[in-house]
Formats: sequence, structure tokens, C-alpha cells
Amino acid sequence: MVFMRFRPQLIFSSLPRSIPKPRTSPATTLAAAAAATSMAATSEDALRRALAEHQAAVDAQAEAVRALKAGGGASKADVDAAVEALKALKVEAGAAARRLQQAVGAGAGGAAREELRQAVVNTLERKLFYIPSFKIYRGVAGLYDYGPPGCRVKANVLSFWRQHFVLEENMLEVDCPCVTPEIVLKASGHVEKFTDLMVKDEKTGTCYRADHLLKDFCKEKLEKDLTLPQEKADEFKRVLAILDDLSAEELGAKIKEYGIIAPDTKNPLSDPYPFNLMFQTSIGPTGLSVGYMRPETAQGIFVNFKDLYYYNGQKLPFAAAQIGQAFRNEISPRQGLLRVREFTLAEIEHFVDPEDKSHPKFVDVADLEFLMFPRELQLSGESAKLMKLGDAVSKGTVNNETLGYFIGRVYLFLTRLGIDKGQLRFRQHLPNEMAHYAADCWDAEIECSYGWIECVGIADRSAYDLRAHSEKSGVPLVAHEKFSKPREVEKLVIVPSKKDLGLAFKGNQKMVVEALEAMSEKEALEMKSALETKGETSFKVCTLGKDVVITKKMVSIGMEKKLEHQRVFTPSVIEPSFGIGRIIYCLFEHSFYTRPSKSEEEQLNVFRFPPLVAPIKCTVFPLVKNQEFDAAAKVIAKALTTAGISHIIDTTAISIGRRYARTDEIGVPFAVTVDSTTNVTIRERDSKEQIRVDITEVASVVKQLTEGQSTWADVSAKYPAHVGPQGDQE
Ligand code: AMP
Repeated sequence: MVFMRFRPQLIFSSLPRSIPKPRTSPATTLAAAAAATSMAATSEDALRRALAEHQAAVDAQAEAVRALKAGGGASKADVDAAVEALKALKVEAGAAARRLQQAVGAGAGGAAREELRQAVVNTLERKLFYIPSFKIYRGVAGLYDYGPPGCRVKANVLSFWRQHFVLEENMLEVDCPCVTPEIVLKASGHVEKFTDLMVKDEKTGTCYRADHLLKDFCKEKLEKDLTLPQEKADEFKRVLAILDDLSAEELGAKIKEYGIIAPDTKNPLSDPYPFNLMFQTSIGPTGLSVGYMRPETAQGIFVNFKDLYYYNGQKLPFAAAQIGQAFRNEISPRQGLLRVREFTLAEIEHFVDPEDKSHPKFVDVADLEFLMFPRELQLSGESAKLMKLGDAVSKGTVNNETLGYFIGRVYLFLTRLGIDKGQLRFRQHLPNEMAHYAADCWDAEIECSYGWIECVGIADRSAYDLRAHSEKSGVPLVAHEKFSKPREVEKLVIVPSKKDLGLAFKGNQKMVVEALEAMSEKEALEMKSALETKGETSFKVCTLGKDVVITKKMVSIGMEKKLEHQRVFTPSVIEPSFGIGRIIYCLFEHSFYTRPSKSEEEQLNVFRFPPLVAPIKCTVFPLVKNQEFDAAAKVIAKALTTAGISHIIDTTAISIGRRYARTDEIGVPFAVTVDSTTNVTIRERDSKEQIRVDITEVASVVKQLTEGQSTWADVSAKYPAHVGPQGDQE
């Protein structure tokens, strides 16, 4: 959430392996090149080195050929042999360049990703899963509408989210306004710090995100400039890795150093400066009360903490949840649904005692094993590794059980939705990425054609948010632990002498008193000892912006024994924050595939959505147009409605194969084909297998399948297979 902006993909690769040095003799150079190839270097660094070696071998051999020709003394056979060797080296160098291209994604891999994205996005827009908003007015960057199937997918994802998190954990759901008064976002720090660094085209005024330009430049160099020297490649990778951590000055310096200019016009760029991403508005007609469209939903929960805590019987831990729109005036929205200016967030704030972050249900997820990318692996240039969640927590890789529990639950949520396990990893924030107050942060990143994308942030934000709102509002947002028996505690007591301070500081007395009372235990004890030894001490009063002299009679500092009946503390918060649009887009890509039509003349698009997500669970097709089949289809549709299964009847006169293809393209998992008035077929989308089921049982079979009580294998074992002509045209 706060200030943890969408980060660039970190590009690391394994450490380079050494490659034999080339020599100029054709035979030995060839051997060296062959050796280089045979090392089958897989890492990008090694491939880059191999290419450099091959290139050097080509250059050296070309030089050798020139020397042979110029010397005049070489026989024709020698020259021919050297030329042949040069040709062979060039072939090898070409192959090395292709291997590198593939590894960095600019070659076949990159093209394939681009092709996949085009196919997915075309299908999604054509089928109205989502469309650019206000299209007839040429649209607005970063704003999208969900069309009918998209709305259903989103509703299904959110309904599963409520079931998986809110229901399972008995969370307290709230629904707060999007328009938020300034004071709330001042307390949270958004007014001051929710910024991205922007640069402007100096002639046209077009704005760009400074880090995006630098990132694009480095990525393009790494992907397209295959002759990049190793040191330069390393430098660009380092820049990509620390991009989030660069100050405005450092970003500006890099942009200048690399000669980066406006991509559209090639004009020079301004220095980077911060741009606040919040949409500002005013509340009420006077224009005097400043408000903002909320950039996240979390603040609505924090400001309600006191009431929610009482609602929960003053017991910790408990979690509150909220689903709602968030608004960020992104500088240059791109990548479709991945970076937009208004999006749906689903956020959980789990409040917990900072002294006990264990979780009673952690055992339920401890055995899960998935790709984790702790910061040590990132910093040593390794890749994400399969790790058992229980081990990650017990070894301290993940800070505490509650954070671990939510990582596990997020994993289950995403994979049950249909996110591919192999393209999901949990990446720990690097120290410089994390807010200073955070105890630990992990992002669920999903790989799609745009790279690894942060889709869920899971952060232990300690007590920061509640403290900030307590301070600003003056309302203590705290929890209590009642002791069964009173406990004796030693407490620091600071008693400023207002009379003496008033005489010494007059109008500034109040500020000095407040500063004395706000001292930490350490500061107070240091002052006590200074006053006892020297009689006076210098003391910095931040609100006055200067040091003052405090004498012994101005303050009394001591430790007192007291009986306490309860402990009062500010709870820590563990916050999983889900970008619903990003999850849905990745789900679209992971679910999409094409298969040839029966005639093999065209490729048909399919979304293999699990029934849970599918926009429509079932279609009903009368095989041919006649009254009896239409009537039977209506009976089935009625039973499906009663069973609560979303469905459509398709009676268009096109072939059944075409109708199947049409529903496959929006990911409908089951199709009922009415080819008799007593029993019909049910077809499963991905296997295209069909079973024959009595008309009276259809709704209950489809219900079991879509609600997960039966699998296709279960029903296939129970009902006869249908091998018929219906699908012939598919
Ligand atoms: P943040 O508060 O920046 O950590 O964002 C929380 C989640 O919101 C991220 O994990 C993303 O999934 C999502 N998100 C952030 N910014 C955008 C955006 N501009 N467009 C779509 N989703 C976003």
C-alpha cells in the first residue's frame, strides 16, 4: 500500500561462467568457439560473454585473413582455409546472438509473448471482457470499463475473495467513501509523499515517469544491444535493481548520463520532480474544504479502528476488510489493466498484538511449498526457489507466523482462481524498498507477457498507521490487555515545573513542556544524570527549532513503582492488499490458449477458466431448430436457474461446432446439447468429451461440477460417454 509503488521487475541472472580465450589460429579459434558453445551457457551473463568471445574470434580471424591476403606469401589453399574458418566463426557468432536474444526475451521468446498478449487482448476486447472507457470520445488513458463477461469474472473473483478471506476468518467488512478529507491523508503521509518522479518534454510539455524512461532505456539496451560489454550490462542491471531507491537527483543524473530524451519527439527532458498521484477535489460548495479521491481503501479501516475494536468485543487479533475503488493519477498509464487510474482494491487489515504474532491456523498452511524469492536470493543474483512456508517462517526468512499465514492464504486464493503455480512467486522487499517502519513485506508477483507483476502486497506495517492517526486526531487508537492479577511495574515519571519553565521561557513554555513530556525513557534518563551531575543541560525543542537550557528545578525525572491492571498498546497491522484488475488480467493470460479447428483451417481461442471464475457456467444448445428441442432446452434452463447456475441458451442457426467455439472463447466450462427430449449431452470445454445425462439430472450434475462437489472424471465414470456427430464442425 502506501508509497510502495509498482516496482520494476528485477533482472538478475546467475554469475558469469568463464570461457576459454580465443586465439588467432583458425583451428584453435574454432576449437575455442566450439568450447564456448559446448558450455551451453544458460545464464544471460554467460551468453553475453560467449557472444563477446565469438565476436572477438570473428574479428581476430578476419584480421588473420586480411594479413594472409596482404602478405602475399600465403598459398591459395591457406587463404581459402582461413576464409572458411572465418565463415564458420560467423555462423557460430550468429547462433550465439540468437541464443542471447532468446534469453533476454528480444528474440523468439519476446515475439511469442507479444503475440500471446495480442491474441488475448484482441479476444478480451472483442468479447467485451473490458474496453477502453469513453471510447466514442477517443477514450482516456488508464480508464477501462468491464463489459458483461468481464463484470461477471470480476464479481466471481470478489465473491471468492469474500468467501476465502472474509468468511473464513470472520473479518469485519466495511465500506467507506472514496472522497476523503485532507486531514486523513495528511496523517497517513499521502499528501506529502504519495508521489512519483516525473519529467517533462521541454518543448511539448508531455509528461513521463522518470523511472519508466530509465527502466525502458536499460531494458532495451540489455535486450537489443547484443554487443553490450559485460560491464555495461552489469551496470544497467544494477540500475534496474535499484531503480526504486534512486532520488530525484540520482534519476536526473542517470537520464542525463545516458542521453535519454522524450521518446515521442526526441526533445530534451526536464529534471525529475515529484508529482502527487492523488486526484484532488473540494468537499462542499465553498471550495474551502480540500478532499482527495482515496488512493487506497486502508485508511477507511484505520480511522474506524476504535469502533471496530469495540465491535469485536475488545479482542485481538481481528481483521477488517474492504473492497472498493482506488484512484491514482498515474503519470503515464500503460500495460492495459495493469496500470490504470481507477481500480478495485481488496484490502485486509489484520490487527495483532506486536508481542504475539503467532497464528493458530498457521499449521494449515505450513506444508505449502511454492516459489519464494527472499531478499538474499535477489541480492546474490539467484532465482526464486521452491520453499516450504513452514521452513521459511521457522528460519526467520518470513518475519512471523501471521505474515506467513497470509502469504499461504494468498497463494491458495490465487492458485484456486486459476493462476499458474509456476508463474507465481512471493518476492520479499529489499531493505531499501520497504518503508522504514515496516517489519517485513512480500509481494505476490505473477508472471505474464509484461514480466513479473506485483499483484498482491503483503506487509507487516507494525503500528505505524494507527499511531499516525492517533497523533493527528488525538483519539487513542489502542488496544488493552487486562491482566488476571495486577502487575508491579517501574514507570518513568517526568514532571515539568510549569512555574519555573514559564519564568524562563515565557510564551514558549508550552512547547518546552510538551517536548520534555515527549522524551523517550533513554533521553529522560540521560537528562536526569546530566542534571544531577552538572545542574543543567542543553535540550533540543524541535517545535522551537533550537536548543534551550534546562536547569534542575525545571523538571523532575524519576522511576516510580506502580500497580498496573492492564497493558495499553498500539496494535501492529498485517496488510494483504489485492489489485483485483491485475489479478484478473494475469488470470486471463494464464487461462488463454488456442487449438486448431476440426478442419485445421483456423485457430480457435479458449479461456480455460475454472468454473469458479467462468463468467457463465453453462450454455444450452438445441442441436437443430425444432419446437421439441426448444421446449426441452427451456426446461433445462429453468432447472439451471432454480439451481442458481448462470447460463445462456443459444438457438442461433449456426453449426453446433461454431456455437461451441463461441462459448469456449468466453470460457464457459460446460455445454448442454439438446439432441433428444429425454436425455442430452454435457460437454466439457477443454477435453471436449461428452457424457449423456437424463434431462431431469442435468441441472444437478452441472451444479455439482461448477461448485466443485464432483470433477469431470467423477461424472464421466458415472454417466455413459457420448461419441456423436455434434462436435464434428469444431
Ligand atoms: P500499493 O498500495 O501500491 O502496494 O498497491 C496495492 C496493489 O494495488 C498492488 O499490489 C497492485 O496490485 C495494485 N495497483 C497499484 N497501482 C495500480 C494501478 N495503477 N493500476 C492497477 N493496479 C494497481
